[in-house]
Amino acid sequence: MQQRTEKIREAAKRLLAEGAVDVVLGYRAGTVPMREQPFAARSVEEADELVWSSFCCNNLANFLVRRDEKTAIVAQGCVSRNIVGLLQENQIDRKRLKIIGVPCLGMVSRSKVLDKIGNKTVFAVEEQGEELVVKGKGFEERLNRKELLRDNCFTCQHRNPVISDEMVCEPVQDAAGGDIDKMAAPWEALAPEERWSTFKEAFADCIRCYACRDACPLCYCHVCFVDESKPQWCGKTQDEADVQTFHILRAFHCAGRCTDCGACESACPMGIKMRVLTSKIEKDVRQMYGYTPGMDEKATPTMSVYRPNDPQDFIK
Ligand code: SF4
Ligand code: SF4
Ligand code: SF4
Repeated sequence: MQQRTEKIREAAKRLLAEGAVDVVLGYRAGTVPMREQPFAARSVEEADELVWSSFCCNNLANFLVRRDEKTAIVAQGCVSRNIVGLLQENQIDRKRLKIIGVPCLGMVSRSKVLDKIGNKTVFAVEEQGEELVVKGKGFEERLNRKELLRDNCFTCQHRNPVISDEMVCEPVQDAAGGDIDKMAAPWEALAPEERWSTFKEAFADCIRCYACRDACPLCYCHVCFVDESKPQWCGKTQDEADVQTFHILRAFHCAGRCTDCGACESACPMGIKMRVLTSKIEKDVRQMYGYTPGMDEKATPTMSVYRPNDPQDFIK
């Protein structure tokens, strides 16, 4: 990780010093352990704050839309795929963008670490190869990094950037090793009424803070449907019908666009696993339409095309 940090800083300083970009979007250490935060470095000095670690869980593509400056962005596999998606949707100008590609070894779930150490207060986490050294008052624990990866990073199929102007190190093995279809499979095994009760249970604790929406690079509308009042597409209360409507509509807005980056789940303060919806849709789009989002800038997104032989058995 330290080598990636150094190379990111090196690239950022060079691009800023040459005037090739006005700003470099990357991560810097968070104010609490295991929460690196998005950071916009605007000078060579500020570039020294950039870091790369197992806790870079935000999706930086989220900060590209409606940005006029010449921008460089640090991008791992999923973020690079969201950049491709934004290019396909004409939301960003490739000519004003430099992509510093980072082959990714997966991000660690903060909540899995906390579960593992019994929710003790953590003062610091050091990365030593494949081990995380977690330190707090009166304790130090060494944990296996791979066992604590976020669910989406465990099943990730594209850890290398699919688009970049320069890379900070050699590519890694693209697939993380987990079975991407297993995430969606539990829904498929359930009868319709069981699916509904499982869905209700999964989202019962949602407080509608919209952190999941705000963390997602797909959600760039000027006015989100949940904030619209004329017409009001979705009630604003925490009544379960309103909560469920929000999540169902949000998931369908992500259909054929979601890269399974996991930023939504990482942002949720209530630990809600909203990828149970988006990963099922990701699987359906991949299997029914043979389309994987964010892989090819020239491809037409699957929800933007119609073929007479499109599968439609699911339309009742
Ligand atoms: S989803 Fe893939 S590319 Fe993105 S952080 Fe996880 S392992 Fe890395
Ligand atoms: S981040 Fe979590 S609590 Fe907030 S709206 Fe999304 S699912 Fe609900
Ligand atoms: S819905 Fe979640 S997993 Fe999909 S692109 Fe948005 S933040 Fe990433």
